[in-house]
Order: sequence, then structure tokens, then C-alpha cells
Amino acid sequence: TRQQNVTAAQWSSNGGALGAADLTVPGASNFGDNVFSVAVQKARLPKHIFKALQESLAAGEPLDASLADSVAQAMREWAMEKGATHYTHWFQPLTNLTAEKHDGFFEPVGDGTALAEFSGKELIQGEPDASSFPSGGIRATFEARGYTAWDPTSPAFILENPNGALLCIPTAFVSWTGEALDAKIPLLRSMDALSNEAIKALKLLGDETATRVFTTVGPEQEYFLVDEQYYFERPDLYTTGRSLFGAKPPKGQELDEHYFGSIPERVLSYMLEVEEELSKLGVPIKTRHNEVAPGQYELAPLFENSNISSDHQQLTMQILQNVARRYGMVCLLHEKPFAGLNGSGKHNNWSMGTDTKVNLLNPGDTPEANAQFLFFASAVIKAVNKHQALLRASVANIGQDHRLGANEAPPAIISIFLGAELQTAFEKIATGKGTVPKKSFLGLGTNMLPQLPKDGGDRNRTSPFAFTGNRFEFRAVGSSMSLGFVNTVLNTITAEAISELSGQLAKELKASKGDVFAAVSAVVKTVWEEDGHIVFDGDGYSEAWHKEAEKRGLLNLPTTPDALPWIVNKQTVDTFKKFKVLSKRELESRYEVFVEQYSSKANIEAETAASMARTMILPAALRHAELLDDGGDSPAIEKLKEELDGLITELVEAIFALEKANDHDGPDGGVKHAAYMRDVVLAAANDVRVAADKLEKVVADDLWPIPKYSEMLFIK
Ligand code: ADP
Ligand code: MG
Repeated sequence: TRQQNVTAAQWSSNGGALGAADLTVPGASNFGDNVFSVAVQKARLPKHIFKALQESLAAGEPLDASLADSVAQAMREWAMEKGATHYTHWFQPLTNLTAEKHDGFFEPVGDGTALAEFSGKELIQGEPDASSFPSGGIRATFEARGYTAWDPTSPAFILENPNGALLCIPTAFVSWTGEALDAKIPLLRSMDALSNEAIKALKLLGDETATRVFTTVGPEQEYFLVDEQYYFERPDLYTTGRSLFGAKPPKGQELDEHYFGSIPERVLSYMLEVEEELSKLGVPIKTRHNEVAPGQYELAPLFENSNISSDHQQLTMQILQNVARRYGMVCLLHEKPFAGLNGSGKHNNWSMGTDTKVNLLNPGDTPEANAQFLFFASAVIKAVNKHQALLRASVANIGQDHRLGANEAPPAIISIFLGAELQTAFEKIATGKGTVPKKSFLGLGTNMLPQLPKDGGDRNRTSPFAFTGNRFEFRAVGSSMSLGFVNTVLNTITAEAISELSGQLAKELKASKGDVFAAVSAVVKTVWEEDGHIVFDGDGYSEAWHKEAEKRGLLNLPTTPDALPWIVNKQTVDTFKKFKVLSKRELESRYEVFVEQYSSKANIEAETAASMARTMILPAALRHAELLDDGGDSPAIEKLKEELDGLITELVEAIFALEKANDHDGPDGGVKHAAYMRDVVLAAANDVRVAADKLEKVVADDLWPIPKYSEMLFIK
């Protein structure tokens, strides 16, 4: 509830557009210092320009080009005062990363002309060569030309460097045929789609005041830190982001002593500097803590509207990585840097809020009587059930295959956890049976301690999609991922469900003679009957759930090649077309890009594994064999030699098999090729690892060529 007040500003139409930079954050005197925020705009723009800009933003209308020159001038002056010498259109191609090309600001020359300038034209449009960015076929049939277009709804900011600063202008990236080549355009389109549908539904529900609905996101980011020295001693870490070798250390995470533990000093200093940098950029970081695995940490910002949150998330990943180097560490964002330990995810807390400051997923004290909440929560249940496979696909990548579906949080089967209070509320409305548990208090057995109010539902860490009080938390997002695509999917499928349920609601309202609660109850009943089987409150990791889920007809898509085809499945194409979020061609391009990324990354892993095994690990084993040869021929030594011989043979055979698998033409491209990479190539790489890890346990420590898990994880 505390958060709800703070974020009210973010939901007002302008605040919603412009994010948290205009909030006052206690204790952070530098908050938003490097952001071209509303306050800065107000101070620097001519009054009528400022007013016109805010008005077009509020209305969600395109900006009059005649305003752009003024805005550009103010932006440039502000940026140069802050030390910026260059500007860039900052955009998000389909790589999960951001892209930038720097252009210098030129000063006016003596005769009154300027060599080059930063005018409205440069602010609004850029023209990077699109041919070197992934486009999945869009570029093959058309030309290389691409455009970046200013997104005035996400504020410009300055990235500092000790040797100069850079003005970054958030932009969208399109092909010259107008197809989205980035993560931002579809996200903005999906926010529009959801807003339109939600506003129509709100009218039916009797709310005539809201004019815009924003989707909101608060991402919790998990990451690992390793000492830089170890990182550079491991080609697997610096080429693939994860360790392809490494025996299980004597101590892992079994003592549960790292989670929420006191933060090591070097790490805390690092975190404080990360937060300081992000604060200047207007990214409101709110929590930090140790995560479950040793060497694993988490940070989370206050939520913002999806577009800004997504931009801020890119900045967060970048700053986490940059600042680590100043502390002699490297930040790993890979989903599974270390086998046998928890991997890293990004919990995507998601909700919808109106410009009149109402969180549509806030159940209040009596959810069973809250028609508006019940309606929108039902829409989410319906959307997630219908598009469960697409949701799974939206979080698929090679790193995720070690988490989802691989005995780790959360499972590859999508289900929803509602918590006891909500689940009974829905059941009661749908069936008329059951009692919703009353709010209660927890006595702690001593009068010295306060009575704690007990939450309506427990938490369920094993659920991929959990209701957590006033939002849904999609926990299956990977730590290295951009927020763009997954939220585009969430928004679009929810827009569709809201639209469909609004149709039913309108009919029910006639039947109930305008009794909103009765009409919503009828909608809830239908959703519960048709889609209720997606709701599951038990242990998502258990074998029993896998069986039960299958009985319920829920999809289990354990790996990336299993999941990706759902991006171009007819149902997906129809939905995305209907709400004008992504055309068939734009979906196909994403599908192709994601499949290719999987296969390329698998290939890089496999080649790295082969080369490390042959040129680092095998030689170490052979040196150890020499050591044994020098040890004479006592029965003990003979025994050791025999053991080592067996392991070396296993390694050599596995290396040969991997090299053979790597030297393939493979089924040509596409998802078949991806499946081949998974079943043949990655499997062969894993066999090499198994053999190498056994050797790690017998080869002399001083001969072992790469840092071991215990060193990387416990030396902080
Ligand atoms: P926990 O670890 O308990 O899940 P955290 O406090 O680490 O929670 O993170 C919760 C995240 O959820 C924060 O980013 C918070 O801002 C976000 N959040 C809270 N309310 C909403 C909302 N209505 N919409 C989107 N995100 C929200
Ligand atoms: Mg959480």
C-alpha cells in the first residue's frame, strides 16, 4: 500500500509517460540529475512549447514537428552543461541489449552558421544501417535501411564517463518498410491495445473518469558476481557467460546461509555505487539482498510504466556490469552460470493502473465483493490459460533451458497461483460454495512482540505466475532478458481477454438490468469453468504436478526449440494481428531471430567446450599422468594410474565425439537445426563436461588450469 501512494504520480497521464524521474525520493539528493525530466523541461522550454509537449504526451498523440526544434535546442544546451559532447539515438534491437552510435554536437562557427547541429530533425529521426542487426528475414527481402524514431514518452538521459558524457535519446527502431525491428515498438503498441480495451471495460463497470490505463512493471533482477581474475582465467565465462566445466564443490548452497545474509563489504560498496549511478538516471532502486546461491544477489526498483521500466531495466543491466569492473569483479547476468546452484531470473511484477490512480489488480479487503478487481483478475486468468505456450515461448532462450523444466524454479509448465483467499473468492462466486478466509492475526506467543496481521494467502515460490497482493509476478523471465517482448505478450493477451470478457459483460449487464456485481459474477463463473484449470496452488516442482498438469491439458515445453514455434502459431498470429501489435511478418522475424540465437549460442558453447577440453583440461590430465609416472610403480600408484587412464580415455572419447558433432552441416537452419544442436551437440558438450569434472577431482590442484567453483563462489 505504501507503494501505491508513491506511484500515483507515475500513473497520471504525464507522470505515467515520464516515469519516476519526477518523484521525490528521500535520501537521494542526486535522483534524476541526469534525466531530461518534466521538471527540467518545464524550466528550460518556452512556456507554450512545454504546454504543447505535455498535452500531446497526455493525449498519446504524435508530436507536432514544429515543436521538435525547440525541444532539441533545450535538450542540447542542458546536455552540454552536463558535459555531454555527443548524443545518440539509444535503441533496443532484438539482442536483449541496447545499441548506440555517437554523433558529436558541433558548435556554431564564427560566421553565424553551424557545421552540423542537433536540431529537431536529429532529435526525431536517425538512420542507422539496419543490416547488421538481427531482423529475421525482414532484411533479406528488403533493403538495409532502418530508422530510429524518438520516443518522447521515455525521457532522455545522460550517461557519464570520466572522459566525457553522452546524451541518450530513447528511440524506436524500424525497417524502412515500417516493420518493428526492436523491443520497444511492439511494447508501446501493446500498451495502447491494453489501454483501449481496459478503458472500454471500465466504462461498462461504471468508471467514466479514467482515460488511460498503464501497464506497470517492477522487475527483480538476480545476478552473480565473480572476481575478475577468475573470470579472465575462464574462456567459458568470457565467451558464453556460464561455466561449461566445474565439479560440484564440497560446499554449495545447502547451508542456506547466503540468502538474505549480511552483504560482504566489497559487494555492498559495489551495490551502493550501482544505486548511486542509477539514481542519477532516475531509476528508483528500492531493494537489495543476497540471493540463494553463494555469489548471487538481487536488486529491484520501484515499479514504473512498462515502457520506462523496460528502458530502465536495460540501463540497470548495463550499470550492474560496468560498475562491477571498478571493484575488480564481473557481473554475470546469464541464467545459469554455475551448474548445481540456483540460476538467475528476473521476476516481472506486473499490473494495470489508471490515470486516476487506481490499481486494477488491487483486491482490497474484500476481494469477493470487488467487481472491478474480479473482472480484471479473471481476464488475466483467461489470457494466461489461452496463451500459456506463448508465455513460455516469450521467456525461452538457451540459458533458460537450465532453469525452466530442469528441476528448478519455476517449472516449464505455466500455471497461476492465486493464494487461498483469492482462490476461495473465485470458487465461491463460481460455485456458491466455500468461505473466504477472514483476515486474521498471528500471535507470537509473547506479549512483548506485536500481533502481526496475517496475509490472505501464503507465498508459493514454485509458481511461475503468482498473485502477490496487488499484482501478478511472472517469475519465469530470464535474468539476461529485455523486458520488452515478455511484456508485449502479457499486455496483448490480456487486452484480448479483457475485450472478450467485456463482450460477455455487456450482455450480462442487460440480463441483470445493470447490476454490475451480478454481471461480473456471471463472467467470473464462465472464466472459472473454462480456464480455472490453469490455477494451481501446490508444489510446482513435484513429479505429481507434472502428471496432474498433463491430465489438465496444460502444456509442458521444457526447452527453447519446443517453445519457440508458439510465437508463430495461428492463435498467436490472430491475436497479435487483431490488436495491431505485431504483424505475422514481425512475429516470424522474431521467431527466426530467436531460433538463430539459440543455435548460434549452442554452437559457441560447444566449440568453447571442445577447445577448453582439448587445450587446457586434457594437457592438465596428461601432466598429472607424468606425475604419477614419476611416483614409481607401487600398487597404490598403479591403482591411481589405472583410474586416471580410465578418466583420460573417457575425456578423449568425449572430445572426439564433440568435435565430430561440431563439424556438422546439420539440418538446414530453423527449429530443426536448433533441436539438433540441443540433442546432439549440446549433449556431446555435456559428456565432455562430465568426464572433465571427474578429472578435476583427481588431478593435482596446482596443475588444474581453470579456477574451481569453490574459488569463484566463495572468494568475495
Ligand atoms: P518480493 O521479493 O517480495 O517479491 P520486492 O520488493 O523485491 O518483492 O519486489 C517487488 C517488486 O514488485 C518491486 O519492483 C515493486 O515495485 C513491484 N510492484 C509492486 N506493486 C506493483 C504494481 N502494482 N505493478 C507492478 N509492479 C509492482
Ligand atoms: Mg518477488
